[in-house]
Amino acid sequence: MVALVVAAWTNPGRGVARAAEQGGARATVSAVQKGAAAKNAANDKIVKIVKTDQEWKKELTPEQYRVLRTAGTEMAFTGRYWNNHADGIYRCAACGLELFDSKTKFESRTGWPSFWTAIKGHVEEHSDNTLGMMRVEVVCARCGGHLGHVFDDGPRPTGLRYCMNSAALDFQARK
Ligand SMILES: [Zn+2]
Repeated sequence: MVALVVAAWTNPGRGVARAAEQGGARATVSAVQKGAAAKNAANDKIVKIVKTDQEWKKELTPEQYRVLRTAGTEMAFTGRYWNNHADGIYRCAACGLELFDSKTKFESRTGWPSFWTAIKGHVEEHSDNTLGMMRVEVVCARCGGHLGHVFDDGPRPTGLRYCMNSAALDFQARK
């Protein structure tokens, strides 16, 4: 019924009978669009933070800036967290958004903190074809800061390996 009204309203020049004929198909599309909209709405709660390079440079250490703002990678086994086994939450070092839970951290033996999932809706993933590799870049959903990459050779239950830079993270022990 809603779909029919919408169809008639968006196509004022067309007959209602025709809108009714297409009602079934439109209703299906409408439901899919509603589903997508609902998912986006959950992420829309995150208000994006946009700052200039100069502002980020002032707020971050040189290593944090290199990783977060220029998509750098820290050397393996040099970061603060690859060997951290404490219970808590890893936040974005730039904006403080909660990104990973220590409950999903695992021993990847790569020298980078590795997780099998991220906190839902708090990271975004983009394809990254730099350095002649096809990888998926992971960035903070709020400030867009580069965090690392996600690979599909992780453990159960997801099979994913979020390979992160310690420099992009700020660990907070659980109280
Ligand atoms: Zn952030």
